[in-house]
Amino acid sequence: MGQGVLSAAAVGPDFEPGFSSRDGELYCDAVPAGHIAEAVGTPAYVYSAGVVRQQYRRLDAALGGVPHRVHYSVKANSNLAILRLLQAEGAGVDIVSGGELYRAREAGFAGRDIVFSGVGKTARELDEALAEGVLFVNVESEGELVVLDEVARARGMVAPVALRVNPEVMVDSPHHYIRTGEKGHKFGIPYDDVRDAARLTRSLPNVELVGIDMHIGSQLSSFEPYADALERVSALVTQLRADDFDRIRYLDVGGGLGVVYRDEPATDVERYAEGVARAARALDVTLVLEPGRFLVAEAGLLLTKVLYRKRSGGKEYVITDAGMNDLLRPSHYEAFHEIVATRPRGHRVVADVVGPVCESGDFLARNRVVDDARPGDVLGIRTAGAYGFVMASNYNSRPRPAEVLVDGDRYAVVTERERYEDLVRQERAALDWRTA
Ligand SMILES: *Cc1c(COP(=O)(O)O)cnc(C)c1O
Repeated sequence: MGQGVLSAAAVGPDFEPGFSSRDGELYCDAVPAGHIAEAVGTPAYVYSAGVVRQQYRRLDAALGGVPHRVHYSVKANSNLAILRLLQAEGAGVDIVSGGELYRAREAGFAGRDIVFSGVGKTARELDEALAEGVLFVNVESEGELVVLDEVARARGMVAPVALRVNPEVMVDSPHHYIRTGEKGHKFGIPYDDVRDAARLTRSLPNVELVGIDMHIGSQLSSFEPYADALERVSALVTQLRADDFDRIRYLDVGGGLGVVYRDEPATDVERYAEGVARAARALDVTLVLEPGRFLVAEAGLLLTKVLYRKRSGGKEYVITDAGMNDLLRPSHYEAFHEIVATRPRGHRVVADVVGPVCESGDFLARNRVVDDARPGDVLGIRTAGAYGFVMASNYNSRPRPAEVLVDGDRYAVVTERERYEDLVRQERAALDWRTA
């Protein structure tokens, strides 16, 4: 998808899926974004089904003939409609909690289409995953192996396990919070400890080692860290096979494929696919991928209305009805999201675009050249399909936004905007005291 300057696309029966500008108006597929803002209200996340499909198909096609499974990382955008859409494309899922398992089942994924990742799974979550018959569990510590073995024994089954290796390579993610494959991180089993963990699986009767897994970080646009990690992980698989672990049949290379938020180099999907496929072929294993951001980020736009304009300390402010509780990425990762007006006024200003939350860290953009938008105008925060709504909170008792799926010339609300009643639903004002 082209980013930066919006392309003028022909919006008709043969429109391009995604966001484009036509006659001075922003469209998602063939639907004017401003129409959605009016009909559904703001803030609202809008997703293009066509872009999700496009991304999935591009990755899937690039993997060509090598046996592979694309397991979408649910945490990037866990909306049931997005999950259903990817399921229809043939994807599996990668989950990191019992809640995501529940969503995956609700969306219609079978157990064998699910892999279970995460550094801190509870016994209950592991039990729920085994009950569903997940393809394998990505185990991140010896302690987890022991718990999984106990849980599997109680169920009278053998749990299929992939060990998540920390390949301990240098990763150049744009923010250190999204690097996960360097030495000393909490994720994965330290490289030099993996053979011991593998031996432990042998002494535990209710687990079986079927794969090796890695996930080195997020928003990676270069293949280099993958190449380094694959080399180390491949050597490990060869070593483990020499140690007689002959049931290893999956190589899970995790997610991390980058997208263009601003001026990053676009991910060379074909190069990536060729590299991971080559590693899988050399080891004669089924390749498993866990892309999240790559499949959904560019498909999403956050619509927000301008509430006020003001000047303070020589600075220009655009105050919007979306804040850090709706889109956390700018304040949490200092992430850049392009901001466009749904009906640009044509002249531009340098401004901070900020939300209503009572925090100085509540901003969507700082010192940004943006459209000289006036109160009532609607802005679109681009590339918001991944780690957007899923990180939304109710901070400042703000109801979470609506989510809308667009497919061609149709759109549907896929998450209703929260209401005030939802904010207090789980709370009890009349206290039911208990004593120990
Ligand atoms: C978050 C995560 C992913 C997806 O990462 P992206 O950068 O969104 O592709 C994949 N696997 C694991 C284990 C993760 O934690």
